[in-house]
Amino acid sequence: MPAKLIKGADVAKEIREEIKKEVDYIKEKHGVIPGLVTILVGEDPASQSYVRAKQKTSHELGFYSIQDTQPATISEAPLLALIDKYNKDPKIHGILVQLPLPKGINEQKILLAIDPDKDVDGFHPTNVGKLLIGNPYYRPCTPFGIQELIIRSGARIEGAEVVVVGRSNIVGKPIAAMLMQKAPGANATVTVVHTRTRDVAFHTKRADILIVAAGVCEYVKGDMIKPGAVVIDVGVNEVGQTADGKRILKGDVKFDEALEVASAITPVPGGVGPMTITMLMKNTLQAAKVHHKL
Ligand code: NAP
Repeated sequence: MPAKLIKGADVAKEIREEIKKEVDYIKEKHGVIPGLVTILVGEDPASQSYVRAKQKTSHELGFYSIQDTQPATISEAPLLALIDKYNKDPKIHGILVQLPLPKGINEQKILLAIDPDKDVDGFHPTNVGKLLIGNPYYRPCTPFGIQELIIRSGARIEGAEVVVVGRSNIVGKPIAAMLMQKAPGANATVTVVHTRTRDVAFHTKRADILIVAAGVCEYVKGDMIKPGAVVIDVGVNEVGQTADGKRILKGDVKFDEALEVASAITPVPGGVGPMTITMLMKNTLQAAKVHHKL
């Protein structure tokens, strides 16, 4: 029997409805409107499209939302001053700097300048550290979305063998840290594999839950998956365009093969992707609530 599809788009919709209800409630009851600024530097088309999507969703949810676009030529000092301005702006609860930043700007320095209380992307070292010690404040949006997807799919994480392919700071490391915690929705035995792993397939074939974030199109084949595994495909690879100019996307997992082996799998598109923006909104709502002590 082919694997069940874990439809992130549907789960994301469900969570957005929950968020909208809360936003309406705190607006009505306390006069609080969650505020989000997205800072885009330069004109990278993919970044522009991500920022547009974040703006659209925040408007739909009734957030106070600003998009601040800066030229690629901006230097570090004015960018730091801009972040400082939003750090002090009481209407802004969440600050997101769209990555990657143009060459010549020190990304770590910029991320460090964001007030950790407004770091809704969860990349500030303070928030990364809190996540690691099991006292998370803001969880990075993609791993947060992955964990939520697995939980809502009904798969059991506790005690499961989880294998993560990839060790980036935005996906691999944080999802591994989250799922190994002594906490509900976690308590897994986690293995992380990367380009220096001797035998990647040896590990992936042991996984009850396989999370693939390698950035290599269709890297994980059917014979690398344990029968009955839950497969979360984080990869987004553009492989062409349709006649009407829409991007054709594929994941890091060979979907047709995986479908025959796994018990459940996220599609690309429509899997992890929609969850990422949704968790950004969830973090921003949390930021507003914490700020106003709600
Ligand atoms: P990344 O920074 O390029 O990291 C890729 C990781 O995979 C690295 O740790 C790398 O190992 C490992 N890797 C690469 N090739 C491998 C191989 N052949 N065998 C084993 N490990 C391998 O990528 P990322 O930012 O984590 O993103 C991963 C994918 O997820 C990309 O396709 C990206 O577009 C997608 N993504 C999607 C979302 C979403 O919202 N849906 C969000 C973020 C990312 P080394 O460390 O040894 O180099």
